[in-house]
This record gives sequence, C-alpha cells and structure tokens, in this order.
Amino acid sequence: MDSPLADELPTTPALAGGGSAREEILDTMRTPVWIYDFETMRVVWANRSALRLWRATSVEALAARDLGADMSASVRTRLAQYRIDFERDDVTFSEIWTLYPEGLPTTLRVLFSGRRLADGRMGMVCEALAEISDTPETIRSAEALLHTSVMITLYDAHGHALYRNPAARQSLADSQETFAGRFVEPAAHAGLLREVGRSGAGLRQAQVFTGAGARWHEISVRRCHDAVSGQPALLVSETDVTAHKAAEAQVRYLAEHDTLTALPNRAALRAEVERRLAAVDVVGQQAAVLFVDLDRFKTINDSLGHSTGDGLLVVASRRLREAVRADDFVARLGGDEFLICLTLDGDESRAVRVAERILAVLDQPVQVGAIDLTVTASIGMSFFPRDGRDLDTLMRHADLAMYTAKANGCARWAAFTQAMKADVEGQLQLESQLRRALENGEFEVFYQPRIAVAGETIIGAEALLRWHHPSRGLVLPGGFIPFAEKTGLIDKIGACVLREAALQQRAWADEGYDVSISINLSARQFRDPRLPQMVADVVQETGCDPRRLQIEITESMLIGDDNASTACLAALAALGLSIAVDDFGTGYSNLGTLHRHPIDTLKIDHSFIATLETRPALAELIIGMCRLLDMRMVAEGVETEEQLAWLKARNCDEYQGYLFSPAIPADHFGELLRRQAELAAGFADRPDGRSPLWDLVPLVRRESDVEWTTGAEPSKIRRLVIAGAVEAFVRRD
Ligand code: C2E
Ligand code: MG
Ligand code: MG
Repeated sequence: MDSPLADELPTTPALAGGGSAREEILDTMRTPVWIYDFETMRVVWANRSALRLWRATSVEALAARDLGADMSASVRTRLAQYRIDFERDDVTFSEIWTLYPEGLPTTLRVLFSGRRLADGRMGMVCEALAEISDTPETIRSAEALLHTSVMITLYDAHGHALYRNPAARQSLADSQETFAGRFVEPAAHAGLLREVGRSGAGLRQAQVFTGAGARWHEISVRRCHDAVSGQPALLVSETDVTAHKAAEAQVRYLAEHDTLTALPNRAALRAEVERRLAAVDVVGQQAAVLFVDLDRFKTINDSLGHSTGDGLLVVASRRLREAVRADDFVARLGGDEFLICLTLDGDESRAVRVAERILAVLDQPVQVGAIDLTVTASIGMSFFPRDGRDLDTLMRHADLAMYTAKANGCARWAAFTQAMKADVEGQLQLESQLRRALENGEFEVFYQPRIAVAGETIIGAEALLRWHHPSRGLVLPGGFIPFAEKTGLIDKIGACVLREAALQQRAWADEGYDVSISINLSARQFRDPRLPQMVADVVQETGCDPRRLQIEITESMLIGDDNASTACLAALAALGLSIAVDDFGTGYSNLGTLHRHPIDTLKIDHSFIATLETRPALAELIIGMCRLLDMRMVAEGVETEEQLAWLKARNCDEYQGYLFSPAIPADHFGELLRRQAELAAGFADRPDGRSPLWDLVPLVRRESDVEWTTGAEPSKIRRLVIAGAVEAFVRRD
C-alpha cells in the first residue's frame, strides 16, 4: 500500500517490501504502532505487533475496517479535538484507551502524536505503551474521565495545567492558558480562590474564554495534591451552563417585559425606578414621573377590535420610546397606560418639553392595517422630591394629575398640585356627606310644574332633587348627582326619589288633583336589571297610579346594549308608566332606535329654546323630528312669552320653565294646585282671556330658595338667582 506518512516516516516500498532499516525496525518493534487517518477514520498503517493487537492478518485487512462505523459520539469529538490539538501545536500525550479489536475490549496506555500524511493532511501516530491490567474499576474510571463532557483540569500551585481531560482540552482558547487567564472577569477568579482559601473548595458561575468564545461555566475548585509530585494542586471541574444562563435570562426578560410592546412591565418598574430615584437623590437632582394614558382607547378597542387596539398600542409605545432619551425609562403599566421616569439634570422644564413632544408625536395619524387612526393622550406628572419621595406617592400624584388633564378636555398634560389632592379629599368628604345626607333626610324632592301649552293649566310636575346641605345651603343636582352616580350612591338616592314621587302622586290624587309626575333616571339605575321589579314594588306599596308616573331617560342611555334597554323599557311600559326622552336633541340617538322603543314623550332640550331667537331653524328641526316620530312634545326651559308663543304656534303639547315657575317644594306645589282649582271655578271667563294660571305667579315668587330680579320687562327673560349661589363644588365629574 501507499505510504500514509510524509518523508520523515518510511516510504511505501520500504513498508510494503520491507525496504529500509528504519522501516524494518518499526515493523519488528514490539511496541504496537499504527497510523490513524482522521478523515477516513481508518488505520492506514500498522506494524506487526499492532496487527496482532488489532487481530488483523494484514495492513490491508485492518485498513478495510471502518472504525467510524460504530464509534460513539464522545470518541468522535475527542478525535476531532486531537486533530485540532495537533494542527495547533506539536504535542504528544498519552491516555488510557480501550480498543475493541473484533469486539474484544483491550485497554492500553497509548501515546498519541500528530504527523502529516503523504498528502499533507494531519494523521495520528499511536503507540501502545503498555497493556493495562488494572482492576476494572480503574479502567472504567479512566474511561469515564476521557469520555465525560465535564472539563477536568489539574493545576499546579501557579495555575499551570498538569493534566487536562479531552473535554477540558477541547474547550481551551489557548493551550498554554493558566487558570487565571481563563476568566473573563479577573474578579471572579480572585473570588473563587478566596473561597478555596477559606474552605478548601469553591463553586461559582463565571464567564470563561473558550475556543467557541466567552461562555458561562459552573466552576468547582477543590484543593488537593498532585499524585505524581506530591505538590499542592487545584482540581477544577467545569460544566458549560451557557444555555441555562440564556434560558434564565429569557425567563427573567419575559417576566419583566410586556410581550406586546416589548417595554418593561409593571413588575420591572419598581426596582428600576427606585434605583433611579436613589441615584438622583445622592447627587441632589430631580426626577419626573409621567403617567401617559391614551384618550378614547376603550372606544377604539371596542369598536374596531382588539387587534387594531393592539396595533395602536405598539405604535404608541414606539413613539413614546422615541420621544425620550435612550437612558430614560419607559414602561407599560397595562392597558393604555404608560409610565416614564426622567432624570432631570436641570429644572423641571425638560419634563414639560418631553410631555409636549409626546403629545405632538402621538397626535400624528397611525396606520393600523387598512385603518387610519388618530389618538391623543393625557399626561400627568409629578416630581421627585417635591411631590413625593417614594414611588407610590409619586405614582399616585402623577395619576391624579393625569385625571385632571383628562377632566380638562384630554390631549394635554398637567403637573400635580396640592389643590388636586384637596380636590380628591373634597370628593372623599362629599361621599361621606352624601351618605350622611341620606341618613339625616337632607334630600328633598322639589317639583317643577309642567303646563299644557294649549289649556294653560298645570297638568304635571317634574321631580327634581335638592340637597339641604348643613353648611352650604341648597345644593342643586349638578353638584352631587354625577358624583353619586360614580360612587353608586345614586342607587339609594334614586330609589328614594322614586318612592317620594310615587307617594306624592298618590297624595295629590287623593286630594282630587290629576297630576302626572316625571322622574329622572340615571344611567346606572337604568342599566340595573332589578329596576322594573323595584318600580313595581314601589307602585304596589304606595298605591300610586303608574299611568301617572313618567320615567325620564336620556338619549345616551339608549346607545349600546340594545337588548337590555329594550327589555327594561318594555317592562316599565307594561307596568303602565310612560317614557320620556330628556334633553332631546343633544344626544346622538337614531330615529330608528327611538321608534323601536315604547317612548311617548320627547323633551326638547332647553338649549334649543334658549336660542330660539337667534337660531330658530334648529328648534324647527327638532320639532319636525318630534312630529315625524309622532310623540308628545315637551319644551324645557321656557323663560319668555315669545318662546311660549312660538311653541303655541307649533302645537307643542307641554312646557316647563321659569316663565311660570322653577322647581318648588311639594307643599308649595300643592298650594298652587288648590289655588288653580279655586281660580278655575271662580274665574271661568276672565276679561283678559288669559288663564288664571298667571294669577298664581306671585305664589311661585314667594318661593324661598329663589330670588327674582325685579324691574324686568314682562316679555323679557326673568332671570333667577339661586340663593346661596350653589355651584358644583366638585370640579371633576
Ligand atoms: P333636567 O331633567 O333636564 O331638569 C331640568 C333642569 O332645568 C332642572 O335643573 C331645572 O331646575 C332646570 N330648569 C327648569 N326651568 C328652567 C328654565 O327656565 N331655565 C333654565 N335655565 N333652567 C331651567 P336642576 O334641578 O338643577 O337639575 C339638573 C339635572 O339634574 C336635571 O336635568 C336632571 O338631569 C338631574 N336630576 C335632577 N333630579 C334628579 C334625580 O332625582 N335623579 C337623577 N338621576 N337626576 C336628577
Ligand atoms: Mg329631566
Ligand atoms: Mg332636561
């Protein structure tokens, strides 16, 4: 066969034909020697004693054996490593190997060295030094050391390697590497040695240099002695934990980041912001916490679907990130809420500039799929340390400021002030005051006369709630109903009004007056599925005439869950009550919806009556719609004779307004009814042709909680000032 080796070893004729003395010596040597080809995984040459060892009859027969066929993966990588070792350095090393000639295990100490084959590729010369006749235990442990993926190195006291198993050799970046040189972070090496110094052993995870770049290894070190020299040594075993580390990092990343926007989430926020606040505190600087909340996001989500909402959030978060510096912190709190923490190296003006930039960038149209959207945001901010020294306080205050920005019309920023806090405290106070008001009977239902336009007689009343506040005097509904709705107190308050109105209807009916009473319902009450039953119970318990009770709802209550409102209105109508739509013309109800429900009355909002003189076309339009829907027409807020004349000319059915009377207490109203009856009997035919109703006006004027301006011309608006100038003392609704 051809010589497997380059010049330095015997040439073919010599080997095959027994040429040179060197070859003969090699062939007759008692030490088995063979040459292994890494690529073909075959023995390409062997001397006689190696042939005996391999139980082969000739070199050709041995070369015909494919050693790669049943080679284990660990042997394969080890051989690949040897090849690399030989390419890199002129090394020779010995190891205990077990060969399986014809399947029979034979354990040997083999000396390996690299030699170029004739064609220049790297081959391996193997010399079997001795057959090992140790105990199976020793043989097996030696084998294990060779095959394990754990990297085992014995270092001398100076950190030079005395022994490396194949796995350790394979991982080396540099074959001359010392223990210290292995570490990416010198501190990790020093720490480990300190541990060994203290307890004789140490364990830690550290980054080390390897042939495959920097990797994370778990390194265990034990103090020992070199069995050969008896000198102190370190036995080091390493396992690669890079994949573990990466998985750990991935888990941590997922736990601390929002999957949709990739921003840090609420869980990550506390540690990060607290760290920043502490750093700012040390150098005596300021920081700002910004709460960013998208306006109308829920509407977009509900109407255009969640995937559109998600798309919008992704774009918005990207824009937020771009609106701040790379070292500023942006997190998603959840939903459409974001938090930004800015470190301020100067005054607070940077926070304002950032807020304005955010408002500007968010205002740009967003394309989500085929949909073009615009979204605005409301921003609240608070400053460290002025508005709070801890994260919770700063977040609470930024949140408050954000709500103020929303209440002021959205698409703006607001910075926290102590007044906002006072406002909230005021709300808390209001809540407890409202509860007390219910217990102490501070509420009173007033009644505003509803007058037939044609006959000019009182035919009904609207129940309007008043609150006799112990220190503020009379409070109108605008000052507490919205708040009662928000806190849910309206359920109780509304039930009281209904019962009171029903009792009053019964009382006036008992006196012989046929008065229809209308009651305002809040959206919350209307949505309560127990409402029809509650009304039925009240009717039953009070003995009132349900046909003389009217429920007022607003257009907005009809938008949304159509089935629920249909069922509720049908149930109320079935009880005999009539239904009116209040403030008609200010909402967005579609005529189809109105037509589908058992609605009999439309109350034209007072704003259309107030602008009759300047914009009569609007009022005409509303009246036209009432006619179209063929419903009873009621005008609200009639204050002048001209308005009344206009309504009369258009056959409006009913009106309410200061022209005749504001809402007054029940006993005054009762007196009006009695006087009206007397006057009607006594003045059947008045000389001026006008209704006796107008003779009642002085009675109304006597009403204590209103004060009429005097001297006004009769045909001009009679203005009224509510005594005590009660205005809403809660700014936010
Ligand atoms: P609303 O149902 O539209 O009631 C008419 C409001 O207009 C009343 O205000 C009434 O006093 C006022 N008003 C009457 N005539 C005139 C007029 O000629 N000119 C002007 N400018 N205003 C006039 P009020 O009593 O302050 O009630 C405000 C709103 O509070 C009511 O509007 C109603 O929506 C709500 N509300 C009143 N009582 C209750 C209640 O018991 N429950 C619920 N849920 N809401 C109520
Ligand atoms: Mg009303
Ligand atoms: Mg109204």
